[in-house]
Amino acid sequence: MPDPTAARILIVEDEQAIADTLIYALGTDGFVTEHCLLGRDALAALRRGNFVLMILDVGLPDMNGFDLCRELRRESNIPVIFLTARNDEIDRIVGLEIGADDYVVKPFSPREVAARVRSVLRRARPAPTLPDRQPDPPTDLPPTAPGFAIDEDAHCIRYCGQALELTRYEHLLLKTLVESPRRVFSREQLMQRVWTAPDHSLERTVDTHIKTLRAKLKAVDPAADPIVTHRGIGYSLLRPR
Ligand code: CA
Repeated sequence: MPDPTAARILIVEDEQAIADTLIYALGTDGFVTEHCLLGRDALAALRRGNFVLMILDVGLPDMNGFDLCRELRRESNIPVIFLTARNDEIDRIVGLEIGADDYVVKPFSPREVAARVRSVLRRARPAPTLPDRQPDPPTDLPPTAPGFAIDEDAHCIRYCGQALELTRYEHLLLKTLVESPRRVFSREQLMQRVWTAPDHSLERTVDTHIKTLRAKLKAVDPAADPIVTHRGIGYSLLRPR
């Protein structure tokens, strides 16, 4: 018995075997799927049903996935993940204003597609408000962490009076930590705040940037190590009280 509250995903793919692996993988993740072999059936299904996302093969027998997506975009902003068989199609997905949210190249692992689906849905959904309601305790602390100063105009962060040379992501990451110094951020929260198009499942990207940030802070003050690691959770700038 399908769960009536489960998120529904439309799969548009003319190869039944490929569709079957997706139906299975998404089903084990708790999604309800509907499958269409043809583009025109997909448009009809989309107009009929409340889908949260569409997985769309570029090469369909009756129409091209790009045209389908363009037509769809006139009436809906449902997230779309393209399935593509050829590298030259990727350029079109990335380069054209088709309105795709992601793409996967065949042959793919169904688990990978399921992970992309979750990631696109996370991005499409407004961030949950609950974790964000944990404000920093009102204290007599300065608004930012001691030793740090954010110079918005110069797009620069100073540490112990010294301007740090940071990459874009290091800057955004450190700024996030400095602005809420006692808050513990999970990797996923950092991912969502800092990376505009978070890389799938690569929360280790956060770790990598934390590592380079630590090295740069250490170059300023070798004795201090202001970024605190919370094992299995994430990072904060100071220890939470
Ligand atoms: Ca095909």
